Amino acid sequence: MGGFPQVRMRRLRKNEPMRRLFRETSLGVDDLIYPLFVIHGRGIRREVESMPGVFQYSVDKLTREAKEIAALGINAVLLFGIPQDKDEVGSSAYQPGGVIQQAIRAIKKAVPGLLVITDVCLCEYTSHGHCGVVVDGEVDNDKTLDLLVRMALSHAEAGADIIAPSDMMDGRVGVIRSVLDESGFVDLPIMSYALKYASAFYSPFRDAAQSAPQFGDRRSYQMDSANIREALREVEQDVAEGADIIMVKPALAYLDVISKVRDTFNHPIAAYNVSGEYAMVKAAAARGWIDERRIVMEILTSIKRAGADVIITYHAKDVARWLQE
Ligand SMILES: [Zn+2]
Repeated sequence: MGGFPQVRMRRLRKNEPMRRLFRETSLGVDDLIYPLFVIHGRGIRREVESMPGVFQYSVDKLTREAKEIAALGINAVLLFGIPQDKDEVGSSAYQPGGVIQQAIRAIKKAVPGLLVITDVCLCEYTSHGHCGVVVDGEVDNDKTLDLLVRMALSHAEAGADIIAPSDMMDGRVGVIRSVLDESGFVDLPIMSYALKYASAFYSPFRDAAQSAPQFGDRRSYQMDSANIREALREVEQDVAEGADIIMVKPALAYLDVISKVRDTFNHPIAAYNVSGEYAMVKAAAARGWIDERRIVMEILTSIKRAGADVIITYHAKDVARWLQE
């Protein structure tokens, strides 16, 4: 078999047209989902300190932002809510007049073509900051399911296009699917955070969503970062319960997990390029230590190359602009 000098790998990379022709992975605006933080109140557009360029918006300020996102060609947003009141059972998560329910209606009215995906989890709404109902210091799985179902249904009724449970309770995809089906939402897809690792990369998000746990951590329900066989079992469960899209979160430190899930399942995969990944790039770029644009494109391309179909990323608006140039 031929080797050097007959074989010269450099032939196909000698100039830009050649490289473009044989590029294996492409990143397009269609691949991007932009996360949005919606806060109770009026007239608020507040930058998150640890996430430069990312803002909390009150519902009245959200419409303009949604129009800008759509004008950039981005197809979908993922909503997180910061309510006025928090309590032990996250009541404001499933009220028809809640902050997310209002936000869904406002966006769908202003920009009907923009897909609205909603995060379903209680941690932004509970006084203790955990993702479910706490009984004797532990998050109770089955009691939490009842509340998650109510939350998902209220998002569906408000007009959400995709429901995205992120709580990591066992069985939640199945119970949400059943209730959506019984309530006439048979065509509403579920994007499951099937693989949500207990990660240090989430800390800037907790500033943005004001959802830090008040005691303990989330390791009794989120996945251990060392595990990949367990990840496949998690995906198996969610697929069996009716998940339409599988999410891996975080993305950058879990490219092997994305790749393994890609090889094992045929479902669409979403990867969440999380707040800590974003903050590291922003902090280094602000000091002039890295080329932000090249780094971001390289990171997002690597996430696609690993096997993700879509990427949830705070860089989405910048990337959409760069792709237009
Ligand atoms: Zn949560």
